[in-house]
Amino acid sequence: MAFVILLVATVSAQNTSATKMKSFIDALMVKMTLEEKIGQLNLLTGGEASTGSVVSTDVESKIKAGEVGGIFSMSTPARIRKAQEIAVNQSRLKIPIIFGMDVIHGYKTVFPIPLGMSCIWDMKAIEQSARIAATEATADGICWAFSPMVDVSRDPRWGRISEGSGEDAYLGSQIAKAMVKGYQGDDLAKANTMMACVKHYALYGAAEAGRDYNTTDMSRIKMYNEYLSPYKAAVDAGVGSIMTSFNEIDGIPATANKWLLTDVLRKQWRFNGLVVTDYTSINEMTDHGMGNLKTVSALALKAGVDMDMVGEGFLSTLKQSLKEGKATQQYIDRACRKVLEAKYKLGLFTDPFLYCNEQRAATEIFTEANRAVARDMAAKSFVLLKNANKVLPLKLSGTIALIGPLADNKENMIGTWAVSGDPAKAISLLQGIKNVAPGVNVVYAKGANVSEDSVLEINTSVFGKPLNRDQRNADTMINEALRAAQNADIIVAALGELAEMTGESSSRSDITVPLSQKDLLNALVKTGKPVVVVLFTGRPLAIPDENKQASAILNTWFGGTEAGNAIADVLFGKTNPSGKLTTSFPINVGQVPVYYNHKNTGRPLAGDKFGKFRSNYLDVSNQPLYPFGYGLSYSNFTYSDITLSNKSLSSSGKIMASVTVTNSSNVDGIETVQLYIRDMVGSVTRPVKELKGFKQVAIKAGDAQVVTFDISINDLKFYNSNLDFVAELGDFKVFIGTNSRDVKEAGFSYTK
Ligand code: BGC
Repeated sequence: MAFVILLVATVSAQNTSATKMKSFIDALMVKMTLEEKIGQLNLLTGGEASTGSVVSTDVESKIKAGEVGGIFSMSTPARIRKAQEIAVNQSRLKIPIIFGMDVIHGYKTVFPIPLGMSCIWDMKAIEQSARIAATEATADGICWAFSPMVDVSRDPRWGRISEGSGEDAYLGSQIAKAMVKGYQGDDLAKANTMMACVKHYALYGAAEAGRDYNTTDMSRIKMYNEYLSPYKAAVDAGVGSIMTSFNEIDGIPATANKWLLTDVLRKQWRFNGLVVTDYTSINEMTDHGMGNLKTVSALALKAGVDMDMVGEGFLSTLKQSLKEGKATQQYIDRACRKVLEAKYKLGLFTDPFLYCNEQRAATEIFTEANRAVARDMAAKSFVLLKNANKVLPLKLSGTIALIGPLADNKENMIGTWAVSGDPAKAISLLQGIKNVAPGVNVVYAKGANVSEDSVLEINTSVFGKPLNRDQRNADTMINEALRAAQNADIIVAALGELAEMTGESSSRSDITVPLSQKDLLNALVKTGKPVVVVLFTGRPLAIPDENKQASAILNTWFGGTEAGNAIADVLFGKTNPSGKLTTSFPINVGQVPVYYNHKNTGRPLAGDKFGKFRSNYLDVSNQPLYPFGYGLSYSNFTYSDITLSNKSLSSSGKIMASVTVTNSSNVDGIETVQLYIRDMVGSVTRPVKELKGFKQVAIKAGDAQVVTFDISINDLKFYNSNLDFVAELGDFKVFIGTNSRDVKEAGFSYTK
C-alpha cells in the first residue's frame, strides 16, 4: 500500500513538473521570433577541441544575436561564465546556453577506454566512473556529455570499436543503462549531474569493411535483434539526448532517416528528449548525394533532428525553406521546444550559472580519491590472455628488463578520446613499476619504434601528437634491448598500438602488431628468458604469433590516468586480474567478423578440423584466438555441472539454473560467471548462443560459491519476422561458464 501511495505521489509530482515545464516553455516560445527559434537549434564549437574539419566562427556575435543554442568543447567556469553572461545579458530573450563536451571515459581523471571499461563487467563500477566524470565535468562548467557510445561492433578494423562496449547487445544494454544513470543521477537539475547523450544512432559500428563513416546495410530483423537494443536501453533509462550517426541506413543517412528518428525512436520507444546530429552530419548529406544544404537541412528537421552540430545548415537555410514550404513551423517549434526542455531540465533557466562554480572546480577535479577509483578500475579492465607456467604475478625482487616503445610513455596511456585529460599527468608503465615494486631492479630500453611505417606515422600524427620516433636504426635499438635483458630474470615487453592508431578516423586494414615490434619480440624470445607481453591496444589485435611466443600476455587497452600503476598492480599481484573480453580476438583479419553469437548455418563445422562442404576456411579455424567473455585470473576457477530447478518453463514461471564455482587456487579472486541460452528451433534462425545474464562473484582461495540465475520467458524473447518481440515454445539449451566457449550445458523446454 505504502509503495502504491509513493508511486502515485511520484507520478503526480512528475506530472506537475512536466506541466510546469510546458507552461514555462509555452510562454517563452510565444515571445520568440522565428530567427530565435532557429537559433536555439544551433550547436557550435567553443574551440578547445575539434573532432571534425569545420570549426565555428563568430561565436560571440552569434550568441548576442540569439543564434546559438549550445556550445561544446569549452570548459572552465570562467570561460563558460563569460559565454553564458553574453547569452543571458546581451541576447534579447536571455535564454541560457547549454554546454556540451565529449566526456567519454572520465574527464580530467581518465578511466580506461570504453572497450576496456566494458571488460570489467561490473555495472556498479561502470556507473561510478560516469558519476565521477559527471562530478568533474560539471565542476568545470559542462552540463552535457556526448556519451555513452553504445555502437555494437564486430569489426576490429574499425577504429571506434575502442569507444564502445564490444560485440554484444545484451551486455552493451546493461552498460548503456549504467552510464546514463551515472551521468544523470536522479535529478538533472542538480549541480553535479549532467545530461547524457547516447550515440551514434544507429548502427555506426557496422560500417562496411570497418572503414569509418562507411555505409551500413542491414536487415531489420538483425538490427532489432543484434544492434538496436543498447540505444533503446539508454532511452528506457531516461537518457536526455541522442546523437544521430554519420552512416546511412536503408539508403538514407541516419540524420535524415525518418523511420529511425521518428517511427522507431519517438513512436516505438517513446523517446521524449533531444535529438542532436553528429559533427556536420547534416552538411555531409550533400556528399551522400541527398541534395544541397537547404534540402538536406529540411530533410533532417523533418526526419526528427532537433539540434544541428557545427554545420549551421539549420541556421542558414530553415527560414528560406519555411518560406518555400519545404519546412514547417510545426517542425521548427518541435525542435526548439526540445532544446528548451533540455535546458529547463538541467536547471539552466533557474540558474544559468549552476555549473560555474570555481570552488568546485578547485576541489572536485582530479582528486586523489577519483584517481584511486580510476586505478582500481583500470586494473580490473585488463584481460590476462595467457599465463603459461604461472609466470605472473612477478616477484617483488630481482631484475626485470622492461622493453618496448610503450614502456616509458605517458602520451598514449589515456587513449585518443580523452579530450580533457592531460597526458602529462598519466602514469607510464615504467613509473608504475617503480611505484609498486621499489625493490625490483628495472632496466629499461625502448627496443623499437612503434612502427617504422612513415605513412602510418604521418596519418597518426594529424593532431600533432609526437610519435617520438627514435632515429637510431632497428638493429641498434634491438641490440640495446638485448643488452638490457642480459642480466634480467624476466622480460616485460610493452608492445602494441599508439592511441592514435585507434578511435575516430583510425581504421586499420592490418590489425597485427607492427613489424618493428614483432622483430623486437622475436629477438627477446630468442634469449630464452620468459617474456611477458603487456599489450596496449584500442581494438582486438590479431596476435597468433605473440600468443605462441610470449609466456604471458596482459591486454591493457589504454588504461587512463593511472594506467602505469594499475598495470604494475596486476603484474605484481596486488590486484588479481578479472577482466573478460567483450569482443572476440580474431586469429587473422580474414576471419572478421568473428563473434560468439553467430548463426549455425546449414553446414556447420563439427569440431575444429577442416570439413569439405562445411562452412569454414581452408587456411584458418572458425574459432577466434580468444573468445568473447574470455579472461584468465591468478586464481583457478572450476565449474560444476548445471543444476536446473525444473526441466520445463511456463510463461509465468521461472527456472533456476545453478552452478558451483570453486576457487581451487591459493589466491582470492573475482570471477564473472556467464549465462548463455540457445533457442533450438525458431520461426527464424537463432544464434548458437546468446548472453542472457552474468554474475560477478568474489571467491576466497579454496572456497566455493553457488551461483544461480533465474530464467524466465523474457530471456527467450527475440524479434520475429514481423518484428514482434516474442518467446516461442520449444527446446532451449542453457550454458554457464567462464567465457562463451568453455561452458557447462543443460537443456529445458518452454511449454507454455
Ligand atoms: C564524433 C562524435 C562526437 C562529436 C563531437 C564527432 O566527430 O563522431 O562522437 O561526439 O564529433 O565532438
